Amino acid sequence: MATKEFKAESKRLLEMMIHSIYTHKEIFLRELISNASDAIDKLYFKSLTDDSVGLSKDDFAIEIKTDKTARTLTISDNGIGMSDEDLENNLGTIANSGSLKFKTENKLDEESQIIGQFGVGFYSAFMVAKKVTVVSKAFGAEKAYKWESEGVDGYTVSECEKETAGTVITLELLDDTEDEKYSDFLEQYRIQGLVKKYSDYIRFPVKMEMTKSRRVETEGEEDKDAEPKYEDYTEVETLNSMVPIWKKNKSELTDEDYNHFYMEKFMDYSHPLKYMHVKNEGTATYDALLFIPSKAPYDYYTKEFEKGLQLYSNGVLIMDKCSDLLPDYFSFVKGLVDSEDLSLNISREMLQHDRQLKIIAKSLEKTIKNELSKMLKNEREKYEEFFKAFGLQLKFGVYNSYGMNKDTLKDLLLFKSSAGDKLTTLEEYVTRIPEGQEFIYYATGESTAKIEQLPQTELVKEKGWEILYLTENVDEFAVKMLMNYNEKQFKSVSASDLNLESDEKKEEIKSKEEENADMFKAMQEKLSGRVAKVQLSGRLKSHPVCLTSDSEISIEMEKVLNAMPTEQKVKADKVLEINPDHPIFDKLKALYGEDKEKLGKYSELLYDQALLIEGMPIENPVEFSNLICELM
Ligand code: ADP
Repeated sequence: MATKEFKAESKRLLEMMIHSIYTHKEIFLRELISNASDAIDKLYFKSLTDDSVGLSKDDFAIEIKTDKTARTLTISDNGIGMSDEDLENNLGTIANSGSLKFKTENKLDEESQIIGQFGVGFYSAFMVAKKVTVVSKAFGAEKAYKWESEGVDGYTVSECEKETAGTVITLELLDDTEDEKYSDFLEQYRIQGLVKKYSDYIRFPVKMEMTKSRRVETEGEEDKDAEPKYEDYTEVETLNSMVPIWKKNKSELTDEDYNHFYMEKFMDYSHPLKYMHVKNEGTATYDALLFIPSKAPYDYYTKEFEKGLQLYSNGVLIMDKCSDLLPDYFSFVKGLVDSEDLSLNISREMLQHDRQLKIIAKSLEKTIKNELSKMLKNEREKYEEFFKAFGLQLKFGVYNSYGMNKDTLKDLLLFKSSAGDKLTTLEEYVTRIPEGQEFIYYATGESTAKIEQLPQTELVKEKGWEILYLTENVDEFAVKMLMNYNEKQFKSVSASDLNLESDEKKEEIKSKEEENADMFKAMQEKLSGRVAKVQLSGRLKSHPVCLTSDSEISIEMEKVLNAMPTEQKVKADKVLEINPDHPIFDKLKALYGEDKEKLGKYSELLYDQALLIEGMPIENPVEFSNLICELM
């Protein structure tokens, strides 16, 4: 019997399999079970119209056997089977296989990823086996054939005996090495685990003869101290549950079912805050189960966190965390997608599959957005709980990608505000805007309490206008990215061009500034490099000074950006504003005439004070306290 060579491409794929990294190897079982299931599908389909098949739905099964002595693992099915020609065409060459086509279009370093994530077919058996034997009899054929191969060197096909249609694949496992224990695949718990993990929802039963132990009841013996006796027995068990919950009708399922499924599958101790069971038909046909966790995972806001949904093709898990299915701003969503559309393409036409995946992703994004909007509208408390856990991510979403997604997200944001303890949406804020208020005002700071004490908020509040309180680092960046909401622009209460003073006041300030121009110049010189300008303020009521920003970069943004671990530091163009109605202004004027050196010291002090109010570090605390003592 002559050994035949594999086609060149097959050889390459085989080599890639053999050298794949160990953690990916376990998926061989999924591949073989999936093939077996496909083969059964075909015969089952035939049986619906052809009585000669002689099998009914319940007769179809996939069986797994292990033999520790022979080091073999056997996967059998009573599906459609293969003729000698099929064996040649299907297993001798994979010239038409999508796995290979995909591979040749991609760089080598992506190989292991491909193996880890997508269907790689029958050849994956060589990741764990030194020899693979396939005995098969095609439905309706007279003869059965045996295909044997020890890898890249080639294969043989010969006639053999097999009574019924179907395929038996026997893997003789590779020898164990220090790092790779192939004999693990002979352990029933390991096989059980793999079937549960990857093939739980295969529509036909995956059965295995399990060896179990039971206690032997010893009759008549009264000796209580005697060791209990055990005996082994075997029992055939179905390892997979066959019907996935997402394939069931929603009406069949209770909250309990969903919660339980979520907690078990995604290893959470708490119920999800929300679940979505989607059955979609149309441009993309898929079932999806999506969950919003009630709390952010401990690593959620770190680089370690990996987003993604499980991806199934007709009940077979093909990817554990498919990140392409979720946009970053909805990365908190857990769940799975099962699509029939993928089954035809997944290991064959990767590119087409990619397109399909994108359509599904778009549709899921819409679903999530709608669900969140609904929650915000109808279950405000729940939504606030959600926002507490994941709101930050939504704000990052507004800011990221140059604001590309801000329109999707802007109505999902909540802010604290001067209107009270309750959080507000932008829409709610805007509906409260009274006549004459032109902007959406915001103030930034570490906490609500600190913001409320900011002198810059005084004038806006006096007008009775609401101020959004931005307490998260990302807030102001997000707001800057939004630019406006319903045609109302955002404006920081610390912007130097707040422009809320009455004309009278403006006049007064203007003339006072002109009168004292030299003094301001002197102060500015003293503080050069730290402030861009010293001027009078129209916004201050009771406070002597405040800092505002003359540039796009606000003082708060300077604080945030400079706290980041990058070399580049930024600087806001700070303006030191002085309250013309405060006694300190008269004092400064007096000093300018009497004691210029002292004026310098006062300038330093006022600047440091303003920094402290802003929550910024002062450059030299020792000098600051010395100055206070000296002037006291
Ligand atoms: P794919 O499943 O992506 O086509 P595979 O390499 O896994 O690629 O299998 C190649 C072909 O071999 C299958 O398309 C199928 O026709 C045939 N085949 C594999 N396993 C079986 C089986 N258990 N029973 C019948 N045919 C099989």
